[in-house]
Amino acid sequence: MKNNIPILALSLSVALFGTLSAPSAEITINGVIGYQDTPLEPGGQWHVHDPARPQPPVVSPGKSFSENAAPPIDAIVLFDGKDTAQWRAQKTGGESPWKLQDGAMIADKDDIQTTQEFGDLQLHLEFREPATTEGDWGNRGNSGVFLMGLFEIQIFDCYHSNKIYADGATAGIYGQHPPQVNPCRPPGEWQTYDILFTAPRFDANGELVSPAYVTVIFNGVVVQNHQSIRGTTNHKSPGKYMKHSQTGPLALQYHHSPVAFRNIWVRPVSSMDEP
Ligand code: MG
Repeated sequence: MKNNIPILALSLSVALFGTLSAPSAEITINGVIGYQDTPLEPGGQWHVHDPARPQPPVVSPGKSFSENAAPPIDAIVLFDGKDTAQWRAQKTGGESPWKLQDGAMIADKDDIQTTQEFGDLQLHLEFREPATTEGDWGNRGNSGVFLMGLFEIQIFDCYHSNKIYADGATAGIYGQHPPQVNPCRPPGEWQTYDILFTAPRFDANGELVSPAYVTVIFNGVVVQNHQSIRGTTNHKSPGKYMKHSQTGPLALQYHHSPVAFRNIWVRPVSSMDEP
């Protein structure tokens, strides 16, 4: 009898939510891996993670931009190479499991998030893809910056040979907006994100008043220009808003790749709707 309970639960969930959908199938088009049995993006031209969606053109960045940029006096320093006190393991809430190594912290075991919460902000951070990659293609230098813990600016190894769908490329708003261009540096080199973010606004009824916006300067090149975000980013989802608070923690993803981070600081900035 005990063994029947999961079957009963499955039958009930099928009855309540409809027939089981088949898991989506990975396909490759022109060497790019993705999916075409995922929902269509608004506008109906591309599926979420569509490998046919044009890849951002490669633009070689300048030799340097904001590497080792010293934080302004009013910045909140989230990582200065010495300790991870500003971060917590996302699942457990315990100490960050990321390792410290030569002034960097290396992604390991779990996503991490800041102990403090932020809304509108200016963010500087630096990351380095591992020089060698092994295992599943989807882990290839995979990490990400989650603004408010909800909106992922992707981190991936897209140097020249990009195998991932365009809306999963480095500096893409994951599953929504590819970067305008691809100024990736080779794995093993430090790269910079300078990000301006405006949090979404909701009215008292929980209706969206204005979406989130993000500007991303990647290695000195604008790749998202005050781009609106369609809601919380998720794998195989076109994005959806549900009312949430005005602030949230900044999170960094662990996706089975030892991506390194250094020099992370943030400045909460005045929002445009406040005098
Ligand atoms: Mg990611």
